[in-house]
Amino acid sequence: MMTTFIIVGVVIGIICLAFWTLVALMLDTWGQRLMALIFTFFIWLLITFGIVVQTTQDQKNWNGGCCTECGGEYKFSGASEHRGNHDYFYSCVECDHTIEVDTIKK
Ligand SMILES: [Zn+2]
Repeated sequence: MMTTFIIVGVVIGIICLAFWTLVALMLDTWGQRLMALIFTFFIWLLITFGIVVQTTQDQKNWNGGCCTECGGEYKFSGASEHRGNHDYFYSCVECDHTIEVDTIKK
């Protein structure tokens, strides 16, 4: 799990650095470039933090495939799309408790 976050952080870090390099080329002073670097760093922090929080929340909702209400098994019950965001629904076979996750589990 931790490894995934590190990979995600590094990949987004590279993209952010590439973005900063482009911006830095257009700027005249190192003061402006430093400001752009700090700004880029905050964007990186925000995106990485967002992904970590979402993934952790997803894992918590999924609970290893066990219903948080009764311990029953979750079965895929549907999917929806909202502005490019995919949501997947799983319902407990025992008590019908439904959860919403961002990735397909099984
Ligand atoms: Zn249940």
